[in-house]
Amino acid sequence: EFQTPRKRGLAVPAGIGRTEFVKALDELSQSLGKDHVVLNDQPLEDGWYMEHPNTHDAFMIMDEEETVSSACVYPGSVPEVQLVVAWANKHLVPLYPISMGRNLGYGGAAPRVRGSVIVDMGKRMNKILDINPDDCTCLVEPGVSFYALYEEIQKRGYKIWVDTPDLGGGSIIGNTLEHGVGYTPYGDHWGAHSGLEVVLPTGELFRTGMGALPGSDAWQTFPYGFGPVSDGIFSQSNFGIVTKMGMALMPDPGGCETFLYTFQHEDDLLLLVDTVRPLRIANILENVAQIRHATIEIAVSGKRRTEFYDGTGPIPAEVLQGHLEKTPIGRCNWVYYGTQYGPEKIRKYKLDIIHQEFMKIPGAKRIDPQSLPKDHYFWSRAKIAGGQPDFEELSYLNWVPNGGHLGFSPVSPTRGSDVLKLWKIAKERHDQYGIDLFMTFCVGLRELHMINLVVYDRGSPERRKAVEKCMRSMIDDAAKSGYGEYRTHLLFQDQVARTYNWNDNALMKFNEKLKDALDPNGILAPGRCGIWPERYRGRGWEI
Ligand code: FAD
Repeated sequence: EFQTPRKRGLAVPAGIGRTEFVKALDELSQSLGKDHVVLNDQPLEDGWYMEHPNTHDAFMIMDEEETVSSACVYPGSVPEVQLVVAWANKHLVPLYPISMGRNLGYGGAAPRVRGSVIVDMGKRMNKILDINPDDCTCLVEPGVSFYALYEEIQKRGYKIWVDTPDLGGGSIIGNTLEHGVGYTPYGDHWGAHSGLEVVLPTGELFRTGMGALPGSDAWQTFPYGFGPVSDGIFSQSNFGIVTKMGMALMPDPGGCETFLYTFQHEDDLLLLVDTVRPLRIANILENVAQIRHATIEIAVSGKRRTEFYDGTGPIPAEVLQGHLEKTPIGRCNWVYYGTQYGPEKIRKYKLDIIHQEFMKIPGAKRIDPQSLPKDHYFWSRAKIAGGQPDFEELSYLNWVPNGGHLGFSPVSPTRGSDVLKLWKIAKERHDQYGIDLFMTFCVGLRELHMINLVVYDRGSPERRKAVEKCMRSMIDDAAKSGYGEYRTHLLFQDQVARTYNWNDNALMKFNEKLKDALDPNGILAPGRCGIWPERYRGRGWEI
């Protein structure tokens, strides 16, 4: 376990003195209860996935104490969230709302502005308010994890599924607001949501879509309502605190089957992605599949890198292939994990087409799942694509000591030539900074997310510096070629936001106008996604 002593002391928010701040917190604890207002003045413990800290980013990159909060508060109801917001406006204290804070690789539970007060809703506002087995929908509070919803559905015996990301311990609301991804046909979480309840930065409470019509029972079935769809401005933003969200759930399809193909050469990626595109758009390929670089295949074994290679720099291709040869999948460079749904005869029809098309790529191989041992990573992918949460994916963090990770996650059309360009950008920079390439493409439909898991030793200031430089270079290189990130770590959000700059930064100007209108005191998550309120703008906060 990793612990950081405090060199810089309590992170008091800028613009308020320590005594005044502690007094203001005292005032808040009188209304919220002493146990629900906790000062962050102890050494920083990184914990682990299940006991993640909400004091700082456990996967730190720059100065360990840069993204540290001053305190954490735990509201237990919507009126208590409103109370915290009123308090922050009175004392001009920045708040940073989280659902569960398991946003590992993208900032965890840390605030962008040092000394912000974390508003952790997950701890006490964690009710599943509704599961409707006829409409296949649910309504949840911020503290409901993918696991919790899955378990409740099992308990009630409903024939519906939960689409889960690779780790099931995160919150449904937090993941969806970040435009998170899962691996069944319902993998686009934001696309599946229907209805939000939001506390605005000035404290008013409102509902989007059909939720605005008193007595409507279509809140979770029709996401648009009447008038402009305002939901979008509450995702990847700092315009409101989401206290409830509705979600469409997938009916149990009556069976599913995960399959695995391997491809021999790095350049096969071009043909593979061009083969996947028409099949995916036509829904022959049915789920958000993963195309993975073979290095991750040995890393998900949970073993240390040194067991495979002791040298510095990325693991050489011949060494990687030598190890893969000893595994059940054999030598290869790319691996495709997909899943088909429905009863066997329906699956078979599409699986035959897929086989025919994939085998046109020279050297392609179908791996028979029955030939894989029970502890092979394949079974974890099968579980997740079958609507069951899992934790197996954490195992690649063992690759280096004190393993942390960052996600470099640009999007591109599902097109071979684009993907090859992105792969080359990432490979070149990984080679330059001596980082192993853990690359996955999550195939949405017409687009795919390239998720580069940059795994590093967070105990080493040199490695942290190297991954920071690698990330910054990849973001710039990608933008120069016309690719942008779908999501990024807190500390790169200014840089990524700056790449979305068409027509003299028209998009950011619009976001700033909204921010200033909705949050005149600039108390809510200043700087999140590169959006700074007037009170902070141009005063040296942007990086
Ligand atoms: P939180 O940390 O609670 O929220 C994320 C952010 O959203 C917060 O920082 C905050 O800014 C905002 N926010 C949250 N709640 C609210 C609210 N109520 N109101 C206003 N703003 C709010 N992610 C994927 O999407 N797919 C994957 O497959 C995936 N695989 C991963 C694999 C590994 C090994 C690791 C380490 C991470 C992976 N992640 C993945 C990233 C991350 O773990 C998940 O996205 C996770 O669900 C996010 O944490 P959370 O749900 O607790 O969100």
